[in-house]
Amino acid sequence: MAEQNTKPVALQAVKGMNDILPPESARWEWFETKVRALMARYGYANVRTPIVEATALFVRGLGEVTDIVEKEMYSFEDSMNGDRLTLRPEATAGIVRAMVEHNALYNGPMRVWSNVALFRHERPQKGRYRQFHQIDVEALGYSGPDVDAEQILMCRALLRDLGLDDGDVRLELNSLGQPAERLAHRAALIAHFEAHADLLDEEARRRLHSNPLRILDTKNPRMQAVVEAAPQLIEFLGEASLAHLNAVRAALDAVGQAYRINPRLVRGMDYYNLTVFEWITDKLGSQGTVCGGGRYDGLFEQLGGKRTPAVGWGMGIERMLLLLDAVGVQPPAVAPDVYAIVPAAQALGVAVATCEVLRAAGVSVLMHAASGEGWGSMKSQFKRADASGARHALIFGADELERGEVALKALRDASAPQRCLPLAQAGAWAAELRNA
Ligand code: ATP
Ligand code: MG
Repeated sequence: MAEQNTKPVALQAVKGMNDILPPESARWEWFETKVRALMARYGYANVRTPIVEATALFVRGLGEVTDIVEKEMYSFEDSMNGDRLTLRPEATAGIVRAMVEHNALYNGPMRVWSNVALFRHERPQKGRYRQFHQIDVEALGYSGPDVDAEQILMCRALLRDLGLDDGDVRLELNSLGQPAERLAHRAALIAHFEAHADLLDEEARRRLHSNPLRILDTKNPRMQAVVEAAPQLIEFLGEASLAHLNAVRAALDAVGQAYRINPRLVRGMDYYNLTVFEWITDKLGSQGTVCGGGRYDGLFEQLGGKRTPAVGWGMGIERMLLLLDAVGVQPPAVAPDVYAIVPAAQALGVAVATCEVLRAAGVSVLMHAASGEGWGSMKSQFKRADASGARHALIFGADELERGEVALKALRDASAPQRCLPLAQAGAWAAELRNA
């Protein structure tokens, strides 16, 4: 038996999964506000799908021989009925499933976005977590390179809205062509890697015949040379695929967006075809990809739907916030307009009523409240008012209340004199306290 006065062991968050608390959470909200505004400007509608899906969705959707499906999924058995379930490791498969299930594209194509928590059993490090978050954007039912370009450019617009520029993030582009072109390339790739089998690591050898393209995605530095020398998919592209790529390039050129064609860019999921792209920074070490996406014209069919062209991207929120921090972009500080100081309990009723009138008029009011140490002296209340960052203090002192008034003190402007305001007309002077 444990001793009576032994404290229980403190519980901890699961490894690789983060708590997001103030003041950090304010940075998330600021980021999300920018994202919502962007989506409205580009005409993308919000979607929300479940965090848990049938394991089969991801096995079928992402491909069996991918890092995610082979070793990164949080899968478990539903103890009630034995169903095989998985915490979603990426967003696209679930959204496509939902569109097919609800026949949601019946009336035409759709542009959608989602803010999602994703789960991958990776080795936690800076910029790589086991629960992480993405802004996910999908254009469903659109086949043209114009939409590929739109998606790349809306990502650029977001980066700019956040205060980043070309020196912080660069664009890489590639085409994965169509299945037949990939097959021809695949044969050449297998021949190349077979000829250099001694240079391959164990994982690459295992994938040599099941998914050789994936070998190009290796993070093993000892394999870079053999991967560098491999035949490039771009050499196997036919006329239509090249035309698609060139149209995307032309759209980027038209707005002056620089990019680099990276023939080794293959992305971590099997479902991509034609356009793939990544936005990369050099400021976060090896976790430099902040946004990645591409076209996936075959995924709907693979998941049991009608053939439907589509293109999308995902932006890692943690990595974006790390990058913003690294380049010194700070969101504007948030603080209440008013801190309400209530010296004695008798004033509470009037104080609450006045604060409610002010809040209804759009003023943000932090009202003093008791802590574990009790109600608090005037001095300690002023201390809290100061720490809150509020621009004004309203002091509900007994003398003023007796006259039907409340005192207003500017907290950030020492030269402004203290004034008294009529309680009965709070709605009238509220506007003056509201942050412009
Ligand atoms: P990486 O090559 O870095 O593993 P990925 O190709 O697996 O990335 P995607 O699945 O395409 O990444 O997801 C898009 C974005 O999500 C990435 O560019 C990155 O910003 C973010 N991301 C991916 N995995 C993680 C993770 N484990 N932790 C934090 N962010 C992640
Ligand atoms: Mg990955």
